[in-house]
Amino acid sequence: NEILETVRVEYDIMDVSFRTWLLPLKVYRVEDDEITLLVNQEQALTIIQNKYMLPLKVTIAEIIGTEYNIKFITPRDVREIEKSSSQSKPQMNETIERANLNPKYTFDTFVVGGNNNFAHAASLAVAESPGEMYNPLFLYGGVGLGKTHLMHSIAHFILDKDQNKKVLYVTSEYFTNELIEAIRNGNNTAMSKFREKYRNIDVLLIDDVQFIIGKESTQEEFFHTFNHLHSLKKQIIISSDKPPKDMETLEARLRSRFEWGLIADISSPDYETRMAILRKKEEMDGYNIDDEIIKYIATNIKSNIRELEGALNRLNALAKLEKKEITIEFAEEALKDIISPDAKKEITPELIIDVVAEHFHISSADIKGSKRNSEIVVPRQIVMYLCRDMTDTALKAIGNILGKRDHSTIIHGADKITDEIKKNDTLRNTIDILKKKINPT
Ligand code: ADP
Ligand code: MG
Repeated sequence: NEILETVRVEYDIMDVSFRTWLLPLKVYRVEDDEITLLVNQEQALTIIQNKYMLPLKVTIAEIIGTEYNIKFITPRDVREIEKSSSQSKPQMNETIERANLNPKYTFDTFVVGGNNNFAHAASLAVAESPGEMYNPLFLYGGVGLGKTHLMHSIAHFILDKDQNKKVLYVTSEYFTNELIEAIRNGNNTAMSKFREKYRNIDVLLIDDVQFIIGKESTQEEFFHTFNHLHSLKKQIIISSDKPPKDMETLEARLRSRFEWGLIADISSPDYETRMAILRKKEEMDGYNIDDEIIKYIATNIKSNIRELEGALNRLNALAKLEKKEITIEFAEEALKDIISPDAKKEITPELIIDVVAEHFHISSADIKGSKRNSEIVVPRQIVMYLCRDMTDTALKAIGNILGKRDHSTIIHGADKITDEIKKNDTLRNTIDILKKKINPT
């Protein structure tokens, strides 16, 4: 309290600001050189960080006599911290990270329904005796239906039983880009390192294998990786958006290998499964949403579980932001863009921005915003390139959507990518994949 009071007086903070931003702060943890403060509202985080971090830091140093780093966390972070510390040993976290796994994607959090029970049973069987029963396991289905979740679940299960198992999850894009790097390096060490990595493994999971179609050297290398692991009875798990027989331009020898083991599909969830998934998510995220609303979402969003979850997140965030109660009317208004009658998605700059943002794990707002760091600038230029390449939208309109940039900026950004893909295979591969994500057919 003394610290807060000093900040208030010394920095001449208005009463209302003081009560809104500073007074609700709680000390969450004090360590050697770091103080963690709990911000109880997600939305307040940026303001507090930008405006009050320094005053707090200075005043704390002044009053306590030691300089601390100040870190802010939100209730959501706290839940994460508590969950991970109660679940597993730190060593386990490292293993999971090395295998590229999302800690949330486990069998425990996977809801089994008519649409996925075969794929689920097959995954469980493979997880229980990797390399012995079905090799490879080939999972296929449309976007957002749980393929990645199931693959990670298998990997977690195997590592839970035996932490020393060498498990590796990669997307086929990652595999391709790593291969490109190794080839570009042009020496044998790079290539043997690549091979050692992918052949010295107990369980290899390759996600979205459809993206290697048409890439000859990747198919070739993957073919050898596959044979090597398979002959040693190492488990291979593959996912794709369609079954092998429909992957027409996939090399025949790879296609036939994909059919050696077990093929399981995941289809769209029925109403009961959609309800169950929403309830599970509500429970896990600590939301409290009326049953009526859950039913409304489950009735209206049918094909894609990612959208189902997205709807719930969106409702919750909007309600908090606008400080409103979630009623049916509120839900209808908030979800009107998501709940549209199965119209085929038109390719628009907005769609491109969303796909690129998701691909690079950044936010759409950042792409439209003014940040200049390369993690944002390159995706932003990619958006400019794709908008020019895939839509008929006028440059001026693209500029407007991209945070009121003028049309010469758009040309410059798009040209930059055009030049770059001529010499950068990794980027060209990424652009190919983005195009297929934007326009899957
Ligand atoms: P895909 O890889 O098929 O595109 P994901 O595995 O990424 O789909 O799933 C999309 C989202 O839906 C993820 O957040 C995932 O946790 C969730 N999800 C999918 N299927 C289920 C399920 N049966 N139970 C719970 N969550 C699910
Ligand atoms: Mg996936």
